[in-house]
This record gives sequence, C-alpha cells and structure tokens, in this order.
Amino acid sequence: MPELPMFDEPLHVGRPNIGDPGELRKRIDDALTSRWLTAGPMVKEFEERIAELAGTAHCVATCNATVGIQLAARACGIEPGDEVIMPAFTWVATAHALSWIGVVPVFCDVDEESANLVPEAVEKVITPATRGILGVHVFGRPCPAGPLAELADRYDVPLLFDAAHAIGSTYRGRPLGGFGAAEVFSFHATKFLNSFEGGAVVTDDADLAATVRAMRNFGITEDGTVATVGTNAKMTEGAAAMGLTSLGVMETVMDANRVNHECYTEGLAGVPGVVVRSQEPGERANHQYLVIEIDASVAGVHRDRVHEVLGRQNVLSRRYFYPACHQVEPYRSNPERHAPQSLPNSEALADRVLALPTGPTIGASDIADICTIIRLTVEAAGDPAPHGTTTG
Ligand SMILES: *Cc1c(COP(=O)(O)O)cnc(C)c1O
Repeated sequence: MPELPMFDEPLHVGRPNIGDPGELRKRIDDALTSRWLTAGPMVKEFEERIAELAGTAHCVATCNATVGIQLAARACGIEPGDEVIMPAFTWVATAHALSWIGVVPVFCDVDEESANLVPEAVEKVITPATRGILGVHVFGRPCPAGPLAELADRYDVPLLFDAAHAIGSTYRGRPLGGFGAAEVFSFHATKFLNSFEGGAVVTDDADLAATVRAMRNFGITEDGTVATVGTNAKMTEGAAAMGLTSLGVMETVMDANRVNHECYTEGLAGVPGVVVRSQEPGERANHQYLVIEIDASVAGVHRDRVHEVLGRQNVLSRRYFYPACHQVEPYRSNPERHAPQSLPNSEALADRVLALPTGPTIGASDIADICTIIRLTVEAAGDPAPHGTTTG
C-alpha cells in the first residue's frame, strides 16, 4: 500500500451534482427580479417535472423529505400513538420523521438480497395497533410494491413509501413514485437529484394531494381558508431553481453511475467476501449509491477496517446504513415497543455495507485504484505479515 494518500483530494460519497451553474444563476436572477422568493412559478414547474418523472397525477414539493413523510402520514390519517411498520435497515430519518409527530415506528426485518421490506416479514409484525406501513426503496431498489399493497389492503391500513433514494428507478417497468397511497422523494444536497434541501410528496389521489398541499402551508386550502392544522413545509424558489438545474443533468449522472457500477463489479470480482450490491433484475435503476458488502468471516477483515484504510487513502466511504434504526436511541432502549421481533438481516447488512464514491466526477481509473486498495486490504488480512511488514 502506498505511504501517501493515493488521492490528493478526498473522494466523497454523495458529492452534489449541480448541473450548469449559469442556468442556476439565471433562474436565481429571475426570482430576484420578480421578487417571488418562495412557493412560486419555479416550484410549480419543478412539481410538474417531478410528477412527469414519477408518472403521478400530483406532486407537492416540500422543504425536505423528512417533513414530506410527516405530511403524507398525517394526510393519510395516521395519528400520534399509532404504530407504523417500517424497515429497520434505512436512514434514521425514516424513523425519526414518524417519531417526531408522535407516531410509533415498529421495525421489521428486511430481505437480505434486496434490503427491502417484503410482505411475509411485514405480516409477522402486524398487530391490531398497526395503522400504516412505510416501505423504503433502499438504495433505489424497488420494494415489492404490488404484494405490499395487497397486504395493506387486506389489513385496511395505508401504504406509504419513503422514496428518498428512488427517483428514476422502476418497479415492473413503472417509475417509482406511483405506488401506495403516496411516495416521498428527497432532494437533499447529497441525493443524486438535489434542490439544496427539498422533497416532494407524489400521489395519484387528488384529495390526498390537496390535504398535503394545505398542511404544507399552515392548513390553508385552495379557497384561502384554514381548514386543518398545518405546518410550514414549503419549498423556496431558490431550491426549485437548483432542482430544475439539477434535473438537467439527471440522465447524465445516471449513465455515469451505471458505468461506474460495472467498473466496480469488475474491479472487485474475485475478492473473497466482497460483493457489489446488485440492482433489481429487469428494472431501470438510478444507481444513486454504489454499495459493497464485506463479509468479515470470508474476507478475514471487517468492513470497519476497510472503511478506515480507504479513509487514510482519501477515499471517504460511508457506512450506509450503520447502525440500523433499532440500534440507535431512542429505539434501542425500548425494544418491546419498536422491535418486537429479531432483525437478523438488518443487523447483518448494517455490519457489512459500505457505500463507495460514485458519480460523474469519479472515473474508471479512480475506481481501479479504489478496488486495488480494497483488494490489498483483504489480501493483507489473509497474510498477516506480508513480506515482514504490516499494511497502512
Ligand atoms: C435522505 C433520506 C431521508 C431524509 O431526506 P431529507 O430530504 O434530508 O429530509 C429520508 N429517508 C431516507 C432513506 C434518506 O436517505
């Protein structure tokens, strides 16, 4: 292993994709000239573009996805004290979004291969107190939305999706966004489509969309009256300007990431205990995240060690998602309430996953170097003192 960092500049996971800065500046200028700074024409245009991509009748843009999830849950009639089933293996925001409005997340184990909820596992944790199911399309890979909808119908509870990773991916050839009662996208700076901060609730249900729209703006409905309790979850024109600009490069980013996925898969082929997580067969994937799994019992080295070695070479990998939701507070102190069943697949995934840099600024030679670091780290583990030295 080289003494100095292999890379002069740090390589990041989730480095923001900006698009054409000139286009962004022009849009910001337009907002300044018109003095329409929030919830204006650019937000409307952004909503139309997102609805088109998601193939849904309605899109309500929000200040972020966390609040978007809260609006969607409340608009579906989910109340404080209600229990909602969600995967243990996701970003903690999914759980916190519910907890913050007094809803009780009940964690369900995920499928080991897809890292998503599957109906068989969800049904095991359904109780009379269950008031909803919140699926997450983890790493942009689709949940089995059809069978989950069938289950939700059978138990007469709303089905929602945290689609924070999912824009641009499909399920059965249809874009994610159009499943369940509503889905929620995130356009946070580190997501591959970004609006600085932002989110959107998409749905085909006109009444649900109207309720979310009102709740987003202090409960004020189309006719200007206050009809319900609401919050302030509006998207600004600046955010929409960035979102529209970012949309301009979305396809380019997806193409680059698809190639990167192939490079990593080739570069890590044959490294014992290391696999690149695959996408759903037969579906379009946005390739937003490049995630490997390191099985320490085969590789002879733990994921955390690889994470550390990469960091020293200026490759800033991320342990997405570690710990799992039930392993952090306040959930871990109250397993009776939040984790009624054991969650072996979620725990195994949390222990093995590592997200690596991808995106249009990462090229084939960077990936070859990153794969070399990983390969050498695993080889060194199999041979504790190669040539009488220890590695970095
Ligand atoms: C990023 C993310 C969120 C939160 O999105 P924000 O727009 O930052 O609020 C929620 N769920 C998942 C799975 C995420 O990755």
